[in-house]
Amino acid sequence: MRKLVRPIPGGLRLTSLCVLLAALTVGLALGYAGMLPSTSPWYPPLHAALEACSIVLALLVFAVVTHAAGKRVPAGLALLSSSALAVGLLGIGHLLTIPVLPGALASVPAASTAAFWVGARGLAALALLGAALLPAACTIGVRSYRLWVVGTCGLAAWGYWLALGQSDLVPPSFVSVEGLTASRLAFEYVLIGMNVVAALLLLLRARRVPTRGNRYLATAAAVTGLSGINFTLYLGPDDLSNIAAHLYKLLAFLCLHRAVFAEVLQAPTRYPVAAQQGRRTGLSSAARDVARLQPAVARRLAQDPLAALPDRHRALEMLGEAIEAAHCNAGAVAVLVLDIDGLRKINSHYGWTGGEDVLHECVARLSARLGADDLLARQGNNEFIVVRRHSSRDNAAALARALQDCVRRPFAPAGNHVFLSASVGIAVLPTEPCQPDQLLQMAQLASACARTDAPAHLCFYSASMEGSIRERIDLETMLSHAIERGQFVLQYQPRVSVKNGSMVGVEALVRWRHPVLGLLAPARFIPIAEESGLINELDLWVLREACTRAAAWRAQGLFRGRISVNLSARQFQQPGLAQRIRAALDASGLAPAGLELEITESTVMQDTEEAADVLRSLRELGVSVSIDDFGTGYSSLSYLKRFPLDVLKIDRAFVNDMGDEAGAAIIRAIITLAHSLGLAAVAEGVETAEQVAFLKENDCDQIQGYYFSRPIWPEQLAGLLMKETPALC
Ligand code: C2E
Ligand code: CA
Ligand code: CA
Repeated sequence: MRKLVRPIPGGLRLTSLCVLLAALTVGLALGYAGMLPSTSPWYPPLHAALEACSIVLALLVFAVVTHAAGKRVPAGLALLSSSALAVGLLGIGHLLTIPVLPGALASVPAASTAAFWVGARGLAALALLGAALLPAACTIGVRSYRLWVVGTCGLAAWGYWLALGQSDLVPPSFVSVEGLTASRLAFEYVLIGMNVVAALLLLLRARRVPTRGNRYLATAAAVTGLSGINFTLYLGPDDLSNIAAHLYKLLAFLCLHRAVFAEVLQAPTRYPVAAQQGRRTGLSSAARDVARLQPAVARRLAQDPLAALPDRHRALEMLGEAIEAAHCNAGAVAVLVLDIDGLRKINSHYGWTGGEDVLHECVARLSARLGADDLLARQGNNEFIVVRRHSSRDNAAALARALQDCVRRPFAPAGNHVFLSASVGIAVLPTEPCQPDQLLQMAQLASACARTDAPAHLCFYSASMEGSIRERIDLETMLSHAIERGQFVLQYQPRVSVKNGSMVGVEALVRWRHPVLGLLAPARFIPIAEESGLINELDLWVLREACTRAAAWRAQGLFRGRISVNLSARQFQQPGLAQRIRAALDASGLAPAGLELEITESTVMQDTEEAADVLRSLRELGVSVSIDDFGTGYSSLSYLKRFPLDVLKIDRAFVNDMGDEAGAAIIRAIITLAHSLGLAAVAEGVETAEQVAFLKENDCDQIQGYYFSRPIWPEQLAGLLMKETPALC
């Protein structure tokens, strides 16, 4: 099956960055630093600049989260933000106590500088590990967040007191030329270990929930660990390991800032429907709160709800968060994929503006039916994704039906009445582990099955669908080459006059000679051809082949009746139908009077104005038109008197039910209706002598069915025709 998930942009870049930094660290560890020129003159200003940038970024992390915080803040973000403030403050202490800098607190011992530094680094490692351990769905109130901030500021103040007032308590951390002391090295290794654990946990989270925020956070932890390794390598303050360590630290803060920025500022665009309606929706409370804080964004989104709807990629991110939250709280998640049938037709009839209007209306109706915590996203032209948390099977089915109902109400592009329907596939989070893309694929599969079963159907995912959909995909691939490979063939079924038993017509019925599966009936491939658009090509092939065959039989003097060809709804709605039929007739040499086109009731009812025009153009051409499967489509009969038609074909189901009173009454009514409109009545699926007798008694004009003949090969039909008396042909 086609891979449905796009590769994560940027994910690879971050991994490559970590690998590159790790390789450089290994190079430095192996002593390659010694081969590089001395950096002494540059070191003090470079060191100060790197520290200053890291401090600015740390404070920015705090500012971004604090400004975006609503009533609740994700606990992980709150921890990172409050710790970043304390780390920044300790960093300032470190910067101001670097001895060689102009304006530095020169009287402060070197131990103080190191103490500030060690405190900041320890706090950063703790915060990253804490953020990795806290569940992503866990949030705290804004008051608690403020308390955390005060707490970490207190911690920073204690750090200042310790570093400046009690520096003799701080163990020595560096011996010139020898490098770090053993106690400091041990401390560093513990911090590096914490960074590695945090990076691994965050990486797992990023794989489970591939958001930009999670990826950058994992990278921040990994790069912090690499920075720590570089710090363990340095022998003198101006050697390259030390500079690399500071550079890595700066990079780690950059990643942290991006992670936080993506999480709190970019997240609201995932909830445009919510923002637009001013409701609490979506899956991450931080994003919801930010959405509320940004009325300008909400207004912009409200102007174009369609463009602002999250796409598939964002839907996957949100689904990942919903799955994670469901695992934390033993909850449930349902994904619905809605396929809106009929949208394509609106575009072709009412132009893009008409199509856009209907889509806007559709989005408005769908979002009005969704609950506060539901997510609506759009993928492809006519497919929508809905994610609902805390949803049982029954609840998801009820939601699907409600959404189907709101799509079923008429739309009015350019003042016309148009009816759409929605097929819905539903997948509910299974008990075993499941990735967001897997769950979405399941819903997509169910939606494909719903579409195949019947329009406006609803299907739950089941494992058995995997096989049938794979077969379907294989068939679709093969089908696209079947015409050029000459794999389609036609059988013909006679249509017989009730009065004298003569063959007055034949219906061309297509079959596919599949190289592996053998001869396939239309039910196996026509729905696939219709959906993929191949039906246009197939119908044209049937039309040409049938016309050519009929013209040949006529030339041989075998048959002067009509050959009937089935037209799909797509073919009927395709502009230029009359010209295509004219071309087929011209190419074969068949007179228009020798051709009948069978169109189903639902096809002509899809757009009655357009249908009337097409039918008139066919009448002008001189071909006959029959309504196939009459009685199975629409209840409105008023269209019959407006359309130029020739034949009503009574559906097989009615003929089958002829035995009971009601069934017999329906057949009688249809025959009377056909005659009063000046149309011929043809009964399909006639299998028994009793049925023939009843139809004859009730004045039915023609009969088609196994009683006379099954669909047969052209050679067999030619044999039958030869036996017929010329008068009856
Ligand atoms: P349809 O147009 O209603 O065709 C009549 C179907 O009823 C044919 O099935 C025929 O074999 C079957 N049938 C005829 N008499 C009897 C009977 O006495 N008893 C029973 N049980 N069945 C009978 P088939 O050939 O499988 O075709 C099925 C449908 O596929 C057709 O229904 C038509 O809608 C579609 N189809 C067939 N050929 C084409 C084609 O060239 N183009 C398009 N667009 N559709 C086609
Ligand atoms: Ca037919
Ligand atoms: Ca039929």
